[in-house]
Amino acid sequence: MVDPGDAGPVLDHLKSEGLRLEAILLTHHHTDHTGGVDDLLVHAFANDPQHSLAIIGPAGEPIGGLTRRVTQGDIVVLPDTDISLHVIDVPGHTAGHVAYFTEQVDNGPALFCGDTLFAAGCGRLFEGTAEQMWSSLQKLAALPDETAVYCAHEYTLSNLKFAAHILPNDRAIQARFQQVSAQRARSEATVPSTIGIERQTNPFLQCKNADAFATMRKQKDSFRG
Ligand SMILES: [Zn+2]
Repeated sequence: MVDPGDAGPVLDHLKSEGLRLEAILLTHHHTDHTGGVDDLLVHAFANDPQHSLAIIGPAGEPIGGLTRRVTQGDIVVLPDTDISLHVIDVPGHTAGHVAYFTEQVDNGPALFCGDTLFAAGCGRLFEGTAEQMWSSLQKLAALPDETAVYCAHEYTLSNLKFAAHILPNDRAIQARFQQVSAQRARSEATVPSTIGIERQTNPFLQCKNADAFATMRKQKDSFRG
């Protein structure tokens, strides 16, 4: 489980699928990503006091109770599987934010990037600089095109409104805006995206340097679509 902000839906899913939670991965310290951890721990202990639940999170963030603290270059092997995840430092949204990349989930590579890269957007700068965030996004953009991007929020439609506002003549952005509008009208999720789609239609990945990124991020902060 990645970034359980709320234990309820996780417990419902575990129950309906007959699964036991083995590991929690955290990308950063914000409560809407970590708020469910305590309840999941209590539940795991109540089910089996002998069972140790792995709680893996960034070394550079103020998060208590981690069983392992990770940073750039570390590899996490999920318990009882051959799934390994590479840890990537992606400061900017918060100071010690990390992302997890694996080549081995389902049908291809996958990225769990918290609040750094969003579908058609990126996280706000709360603790880091524009320079840091721009570098972090460039690292993620260098992953294989087919990488599934599991970002942590469904912000795609409002992000595309901004993208279409600043790049009104971009056909790929217009096409994605139409597609995502239709998906959201049917209450469908637009996550995961892919790195290839993001490279094509995410304006923040198209910034040539940190200054251009800083300007765009400021525009987005004050944008009311
Ligand atoms: Zn956050």
